[in-house]
Amino acid sequence: KYNEEMTQRKKLFNEVQEAKGNIRVFCRCRPLNKVEISAGSSTVVDFDAAKDGCLGILTSGSTKKSFRFDRVYTPKDDQVDVFADASSMAISVLDGYNVCIFAYGQTGTGKTFTMEGTEKNRGVNYRTLELLFKICKERSETFAYDISVSVFEVYNEQIRDLLATGPTSKRLEIKQASEGSHHVPGVVEAKVDNISEVWNVLQAGSNARAVGSNNINEHSSRSHCMLCIMVRAKNLMSGECTKSKLWLVDLAGSERLARTDVQGERLKEAQNINRSLSALGDVISALAAKSSHIPYRNSKLTHLLQDSLGGDSKTLMFVQISPSDQDVSETISSLNFATRVRGVELGPVKKQIDTGELQKMKTMLEKARSECRIKD
Ligand code: ADP
Ligand code: MG
Repeated sequence: KYNEEMTQRKKLFNEVQEAKGNIRVFCRCRPLNKVEISAGSSTVVDFDAAKDGCLGILTSGSTKKSFRFDRVYTPKDDQVDVFADASSMAISVLDGYNVCIFAYGQTGTGKTFTMEGTEKNRGVNYRTLELLFKICKERSETFAYDISVSVFEVYNEQIRDLLATGPTSKRLEIKQASEGSHHVPGVVEAKVDNISEVWNVLQAGSNARAVGSNNINEHSSRSHCMLCIMVRAKNLMSGECTKSKLWLVDLAGSERLARTDVQGERLKEAQNINRSLSALGDVISALAAKSSHIPYRNSKLTHLLQDSLGGDSKTLMFVQISPSDQDVSETISSLNFATRVRGVELGPVKKQIDTGELQKMKTMLEKARSECRIKD
């Protein structure tokens, strides 16, 4: 009886997933920080309908701009809440899907907090790997998994291998591989067997990131940090082998710089960030619009992600925002970007399901979610 119910639930879950397409956008707002509080900043975000994925931004006077996403997290929601929703997409890499999860937003809005987190408050990256190893173990009678990790940094349209030892200036290029996918020749793929090994690898990557920059925070806000988890799975019954990738990406800050403030190297950086972030937006919206040409080659970022964006791969974007009135224009611009990314997906497919049925699925999904909630 229980099994029957689970099968039914899984079927409904898959139907909802299918109806929603492969792109999800979650919006997360950080709390006001101490500096903002002592400066008397006020909150411009209205979370009244956050449960339904809606949020409002109070712009000048009493005007409110509304946005809708697949999830909205208030400053009270923690890392566990966020991972409870992100985990199903992340772990589908074990079923052969390519997955791409990235955090977008102005510097200081919590991109790194969401992806990396802190030692006491682990983020999506660590939790995902922890869960991957757990599931691999559970499935060890039927599947043999092989997991390896690469860490890239993309800065000024140059790709750096953060796990490479020796000369750090080695430039990496992307090459087309035969079967339509592509690879980066010479990149280090560290094989990992458990979470503590991964932790060491990530630590090495983050140390390498600091090398050669005099201000690591500034540097990291202007470069994309890209963690690639490669999964090779062998079905021990059928002998079938699959290879899939999960990208976990902490993007460069999306803030626009005042033109008069930047010159020389700084201007070039800003242009490259602009270029790669808009390329990412262009690619995702071209995919959602089912356009015949997807402009992957317009930036190193999208080129690297090429085989994990589109097709039957899954994409999750966190749009990170600040609650402060000081940041309202950047907040609106991030939310507009995210809306563009998500916009087209929820078109005609969803309409085919009648609303009563959808409501029923939603209720079951909620129930399944609360049952599967992953505790710390
Ligand atoms: P970004 O990577 O977007 O520049 P960070 O992740 O470094 O931003 O976040 C800036 C600061 O805000 C950090 O000190 C971080 O710990 C804190 N912070 C961000 N999001 C949250 C949150 N949801 N809850 C508590 N603190 C947060
Ligand atoms: Mg950061």
